[in-house]
Amino acid sequence: MEELILRKSISLSTVIEKCIFFILICMVNCSPPEDPVKCTVNNSNCTITNTYGAFPDRSICRAAKVVYPTTEEELILAVANATMAKTKMKVATRTSHSIPKLVCPEGNNGLLISTKYLNRTLDVNVSSMTMTVESGMTLRQLINEAAKTKLALPYAPYWWGLTIGGMMGTGTIRKGSVVYFNFLIK
Ligand SMILES: Cc1cc2nc3c(=O)[nH]c(=O)nc-3n(C[C@H](O)[C@H](O)[C@H](O)COP(=O)(O)OP(=O)(O)OC[C@H]3O[C@@H](n4cnc5c(N)ncnc54)[C@H](O)[C@@H]3O)c2cc1C
Repeated sequence: MEELILRKSISLSTVIEKCIFFILICMVNCSPPEDPVKCTVNNSNCTITNTYGAFPDRSICRAAKVVYPTTEEELILAVANATMAKTKMKVATRTSHSIPKLVCPEGNNGLLISTKYLNRTLDVNVSSMTMTVESGMTLRQLINEAAKTKLALPYAPYWWGLTIGGMMGTGTIRKGSVVYFNFLIK
């Protein structure tokens, strides 16, 4: 009789635990991080931080403007114009996961060039197992695009929100893996 009561109480507590767990699962919500570039007037008078909202020295970078090229031609034009005007530039990704500041553009004279809309696949060569993509493509997109043609990465960081340009820019590596990608820069 005692054993029966004990079993009943165990099963009741198990049911309650499972219900709480189920409720917690239902409440979980996730969303991509905010855009690290913020401007007060259209695309002018901007700031950029990392995904945590501030660099380790608690500073943020300022820039006069941000541009969002959507094609290689627009990108070249933006770089050419800024170079001619001797404007300092910084590439901004959609994710901005680097914790250190690395470099700021020149305050209110600087230009941010975002790779947010440069995220397409340009070419897939299944026989040579190579892909050519734009630098704003995230690791998640790359894995999905590769899977469409039954390709896969032999090694990859676990963090899906990194861009190809960001990984190349900082030499992202993963402890335990020898090589991530073989990059061919055109
Ligand atoms: C949770 C977490 C886990 C991490 N784990 C690891 C890890 O295991 N190993 C590791 O090595 N790192 C790790 N990192 C660091 C991460 O790999 C780097 O911060 C990476 O650079 C972030 O990529 P991003 O796309 O967000 O680039 P960003 O942080 O936006 O950019 C990095 C730098 O590259 C420049 N850049 C970006 N795109 C271009 C481009 N197209 N042309 C020229 N310059 C460009 C940017 O201006 C910036 O200076 C981790 C970060 C986080 C948040």
